Amino acid sequence: MDADQTPIAPPDASKPDACPRKPVGELLADAGLRPTRQRLALGELLFGPDGDRHVTAERLYEEALAANLSVSLATVYNTLHQFTQAGLLREIAVDGARVYFDTNTADHHHFLLEDDGELYDIAGANVSVSDLPRPPEGLRVARVDVVVRLRRA
Ligand SMILES: [Zn+2]
Repeated sequence: MDADQTPIAPPDASKPDACPRKPVGELLADAGLRPTRQRLALGELLFGPDGDRHVTAERLYEEALAANLSVSLATVYNTLHQFTQAGLLREIAVDGARVYFDTNTADHHHFLLEDDGELYDIAGANVSVSDLPRPPEGLRVARVDVVVRLRRA
């Protein structure tokens, strides 16, 4: 970390239940990522107290600018992909143009509200996919992503 960069303030220990997650620094360390200032700052936006999130790179970039972080969109992209490779995020490609990054890495499915591009978790295991095609010899199904697309009635 560069010496001239301001340190990140430590989490406020006086608010014990403010965040159910581990501190971002610990999340990064557990995932084998060096806690650079930008990773910590973007991690705070992603893994804050508001629970699971689905963000696009553009959305996170806007949030970073609003929080006065000096990052480029390219850095946001790179960081999101590093977090994904480290298992902190799950990437959900809804269509060719839009990729969401999900802080909930457990198996689950999504509603997509097409009118505004918002992605929502489908609660519990309320989707069953049957009659999956048998994968070719030597391959196995790693994951099934279901995106149920919604429009306002
Ligand atoms: Zn999700």
